Amino acid sequence: MQEPTHHIAATLKSLRGAQGWSLDRASRATGVSKAMLGQIERGESSPTVATLWKIAGGFRVSFSLFFEQASVEGGSPDNAAVTVLEDAAAGMTVTPLFAFDPALRFEMFLIELASGACSESSPHEPGVVEHVVMLDGTLELALDGHWEALGPGEARRFAADREHGYRNVGERAARFHDVIHYPQV
Ligand code: MN
Repeated sequence: MQEPTHHIAATLKSLRGAQGWSLDRASRATGVSKAMLGQIERGESSPTVATLWKIAGGFRVSFSLFFEQASVEGGSPDNAAVTVLEDAAAGMTVTPLFAFDPALRFEMFLIELASGACSESSPHEPGVVEHVVMLDGTLELALDGHWEALGPGEARRFAADREHGYRNVGERAARFHDVIHYPQV
């Protein structure tokens, strides 16, 4: 498992360079403070999942772009070369299984939420759709201000271009697949 901070720092720097955006301009596009963007770019801070999604949305890129060695052909959670994002504050671990494929326009992650964990997400880009497929444990998904429980084997598709959240009120870890579809822009 690789430390993701350096790859995220380099990716953000190159995205900002490609756009020719100042930190101030990038802050306005992403809704992430200039100070935080600067810390992430310098590798001084590892962003939360929620912050990284804001950055991906502001630059209109896929989430999996921030994961080193993520492959369109698929990967294994045990592949030591692939970066995994561990968000300690949210109790969430995100592992890329399929990197974003520009032809098929989706990416897929394995997500683990610790017991008691909660992660709130701001809206993704217009048209983004998530498909949650439960593996183990119970996940509660917040949609339109109400929490819906999903157990093993259950699946849910939802428009992710609105506020949404994930939490685990159970005693064991919740594991699920998240397939994220980006419409043609
Ligand atoms: Mn989301």
